[in-house]
Amino acid sequence: MSKSYKMYVGGKWVDSESGETFGVVNPATERLLGNVPKGTRDDVGAAVDAARAAFDSGVWSGKTPADRSQLLWKLADLVEENAGHLAEVESKNVGKTIKYSRESDLPFIVDNLRFFAGCARTLEGRSAAEYSGLGTSIIRREPLGVVGAIIPWNYPLYIAMWKIAPALAAGNTIVVKPASLTPLSLLEFSKLVEASGLPAGVFNVVTGPGETIGAELATSKKVDMVALTGDTATGRKIMQMASSNVKRVHLELGGKAPLVVLSDADVETVAQGAVVGGFWNTGQDCTAVTRVIAHEKIYEKLIKRMSEKARNFRIGDPLDEATDMGPLVSETQRERVEGFIRVGEEEGAKIAAGGRRPRSMKKGFFLEPTILRDTSQEMRVCREEIFGPVICVYGYGSLDEAIEDANAVDYGLAASVYGRDVVSCMKVANELDFGTVWINEHGVLVSEMPHGGFKQSGFGKDLSLYSFEEYTRVKHIYLDLTGKAVRPWHHTVYHGD
Ligand code: NAD
Repeated sequence: MSKSYKMYVGGKWVDSESGETFGVVNPATERLLGNVPKGTRDDVGAAVDAARAAFDSGVWSGKTPADRSQLLWKLADLVEENAGHLAEVESKNVGKTIKYSRESDLPFIVDNLRFFAGCARTLEGRSAAEYSGLGTSIIRREPLGVVGAIIPWNYPLYIAMWKIAPALAAGNTIVVKPASLTPLSLLEFSKLVEASGLPAGVFNVVTGPGETIGAELATSKKVDMVALTGDTATGRKIMQMASSNVKRVHLELGGKAPLVVLSDADVETVAQGAVVGGFWNTGQDCTAVTRVIAHEKIYEKLIKRMSEKARNFRIGDPLDEATDMGPLVSETQRERVEGFIRVGEEEGAKIAAGGRRPRSMKKGFFLEPTILRDTSQEMRVCREEIFGPVICVYGYGSLDEAIEDANAVDYGLAASVYGRDVVSCMKVANELDFGTVWINEHGVLVSEMPHGGFKQSGFGKDLSLYSFEEYTRVKHIYLDLTGKAVRPWHHTVYHGD
């Protein structure tokens, strides 16, 4: 049965001022899951006003770090208690498997809240000293004010938490906009925010189209920072809009991760790492393995083993514990991925595994995990973000050539290198132009690890203490210690007493 949802603004549950709604669909069944308010610019205005008022009143930033920390811990406990429900909502709305939602997304969300609850008590400037010799400088870190956060559909609550947790821990207030395809887990989470006792206006959610809600958050003078995880094209638009009032921008954008395989790598380890790293979340992951660049000595063996594993994936109902891969998030996304597979074939790539809609699934936006072989770095499939379960594989002769190819994309989010000789692996890792490089692994991420890209993958970090700093500003306060009207440096401006 489908549900009607409301937005959470200023501590109240509200409809859109226009009264309009939009439907949210389960991508595995194509059935309606719920109706959600179609927010307008005025709705964003109300949410921003609520967040501004809450910030300016000091009801949140004025709390002691210990009190803020305790409230965030309480919220984390509530999420943990309701993790089963939230995991199910996420799986139904995104199509990700229940084992993935329950054992990966939700524990990470809880841990992330706890990590930043701890950080709330570490907000400090680096030093206080008499740098001028005449007075004391005090350097303090402060919250920014109101943060606008814009979230993608692939990890709706998980990525939202990467913004919500550090922003609130630092003392900011926040307005969050989920993706229109997947707003449900964030709205369910808002009920826990209400139950936690967080003051009204500190946390707000507005649902609706990106062009409206996102644009208002990016342009509003009352918003001090806009943080986006999304497509690089969206990032460009946000940067442009935010320039109107020079607000701080934080962008986590697309990726095209390479996995570089050295000649001495263990084929079984690489094949396992590649299909797990390439097909998790149905390949809809900005760090997913998209290009396996393998030494020609083991290229054929690797293709064979990766293809066997790809064919062995259990595709089906995301709520079934046994399912390894659910559907793509929408029909549009499936058609986009299928379009790329066709383009790849036209460019000369061959399908080694998958490439079709599974015959067993009558409904839902399913697609087989796909391996394209005989690709090359010049092909569109190796340069553009496909964002689905497709891994391109090609061989190399010299390592310099492999590194050059790995770096030959506009993106720079994540990469990996596999090999037995760790010195060679380390040298390759140093050469790879990506924000994260894993060695003999692809995809491990926990709260202490900074996550963020180079080049057109954006700037600023999610997770870790680096992310906490993004949500603060540095203030310098200077206190004169001379106590005199005329200071030693005044003569450089004025000769008299
Ligand atoms: P998207 O850019 O289409 O949407 C992201 C969010 O931006 C949504 O909430 C959307 O409504 C909003 N939006 C869209 N157009 C807007 C506009 N003109 N103004 C303001 N807001 C707007 O991205 P998506 O399709 O939801 O997510 C997939 C993309 O996200 C991929 O490119 C992927 O690589 C990227 N991603 C990056 C990371 C990372 O950490 N770097 C993580 C996950 C996803």
